[in-house]
Amino acid sequence: MLENSPAEQIFHGTAVSRGIAVGPIHVIGRGFTAPEVYNIPEAFVPAEQERFSKALQITQKQLADLQEHMESLSGHEEGLVFEAHSMILDDPGVTKEVRRAIAERLQNAEYSFYAVMQTYLESMRRISDAYLKERTIDIEDVCQRVLRNFSTEEVPSTSPDQAHLLVTYDLTPSDTASMDRSKILGFVTEAGSVNSHTAILARALGIPAIVGIGNAILETTALAPAIIDGYTGTFIVYPTEKTIALYKVLAAERKAAREELESQKDQASTTRDGRHITLSANIEFTNELETVRQFRAEGVGLFRTEFFLLESNEHPDEEDQTKVYTELALGVAPNQGIIRTLDSGGDKLPAEPLTETEPNPFLGWRGIRVSLDRQELFKTQLRSILRSSAHGKLGMMFPFISGLTEIRTCRKLVKECMEELDAKNQPYDADLEIGAMIEIPSAVLVADELAKEVDFFSIGTNDLIQYTVAVDRINHRVAQLYRSSHPAVIRLIKMTTDAAKRAGIWTGVCGEMAADLNLTPLLLGLGVDELSVGPHDLAPVRKALRSLDYSKCQELAEKALTLPTAKEILKLSKDAAQEAYPDLFDT
Ligand code: PEP
Ligand code: MG
Repeated sequence: MLENSPAEQIFHGTAVSRGIAVGPIHVIGRGFTAPEVYNIPEAFVPAEQERFSKALQITQKQLADLQEHMESLSGHEEGLVFEAHSMILDDPGVTKEVRRAIAERLQNAEYSFYAVMQTYLESMRRISDAYLKERTIDIEDVCQRVLRNFSTEEVPSTSPDQAHLLVTYDLTPSDTASMDRSKILGFVTEAGSVNSHTAILARALGIPAIVGIGNAILETTALAPAIIDGYTGTFIVYPTEKTIALYKVLAAERKAAREELESQKDQASTTRDGRHITLSANIEFTNELETVRQFRAEGVGLFRTEFFLLESNEHPDEEDQTKVYTELALGVAPNQGIIRTLDSGGDKLPAEPLTETEPNPFLGWRGIRVSLDRQELFKTQLRSILRSSAHGKLGMMFPFISGLTEIRTCRKLVKECMEELDAKNQPYDADLEIGAMIEIPSAVLVADELAKEVDFFSIGTNDLIQYTVAVDRINHRVAQLYRSSHPAVIRLIKMTTDAAKRAGIWTGVCGEMAADLNLTPLLLGLGVDELSVGPHDLAPVRKALRSLDYSKCQELAEKALTLPTAKEILKLSKDAAQEAYPDLFDT
């Protein structure tokens, strides 16, 4: 892609976070650290090419020294690895291409080197040959060394720090959580899926994002102008004047529709025939509370605590945690804030470094299993929640519950914590609600028993779906099998709401399905009492609820429970949604 006047390129992926972002691309590959990228004036080309040659020479010298040193210590064989590294740099094809990239793309030498090597490496990674795959690690090692050897003298000072669109292979939830919103306008990844924590966080942060974008990382150039359309999953590189004009209109239309929707934020989330559904928000950080209040959530239905607990260098102690939960209690008052206890593992960070990687992290040391194995850590969190409950209305719930014993043990530990606080005369709300997340099919099958032990159920559909249909929620190869409207899933939801009703407790849904406007009629009809969604989804879901009749949705759900396929169930609910709120799909 080194043409002088590049043609518009269009890539399609899965839209995971709404919005339109326009800006220059920044490509970050895998394997070794990306250097800064910036444009250089044409006059700097020879100097940059020279910097590249020097970096290569220094690296060759270092490798020769290392080889000699190694040979003197352990013999000729051991030194050979550095000779092999050195040969990689001798490839005249690479040298020529980097020099050409500097001259044609007018980008700094280290980035040009990085981009050329990333393209080579990415092509090698995609060949299913074990030997070649292994060699990529050697090449990455050499590349990292070359990058360290670039002199930084006489570097022209054009601004490298501009806001950009990130194009990368994949992002971890922690990469996403720590994104600087003022620098990263949107992102595009090759891997990933709608229900990964990365996608959930992108929506929470309001960052337009597309995943599963095919070869974009191989085919795009840093600093090229581009547009991310987070509504349709379209990524446009080198957009034409016409495309830019079109997107300007589209962005303005979406903004106007959104503003109109948000102006209705004070209306109750009550159906046309008077059934009130508690509409609350999912958050990961207390700085989202401002948005939660702005969009008038009726509380926080899910505070995912693992991000703030695991991302600091040291696990926050009882005082630090109490501060955060108190902030939540005060921030949602007079409504309730439900804190989910640590749900580490799966696609998120482990609670502690693991000595060996887990073969199946989603079936492994995750959620409540970790807390029950590390009871001191767990009790610290429980005491912090209890202490904060003295300052406002809090609830707590436990993730990844598979059966009754776990819930009973949790309750026993809560009781112990209450006694410890009593002994110290520390106040707490003895009546705070305690809930179980329903996200494993076994929990649904024993829901009648669980319901006797808790005050509410919160259905985590993200996991309930993955464990019901055995589809990894972050594996894009099987993403088409991950269906919220699968008959088994909706039957499990109905079994849960029925069990809750028999026991006189309430049921919420806090998985991403709660914000899927196509499925609002179905969830409503299945008898849920609360929907908890990302702050940016509050306005559309509120409008959807206000446009529906509960009694009609109940009939729809009854019918859905008789249908044999996900497709038919989706169609039934989608048709009702389109009829009740056709405009909402454009916000
Ligand atoms: C869920 O599984 O639906 C849920 C809300 O929890 P998480 O996405 O954090 O696993
Ligand atoms: Mg879950």
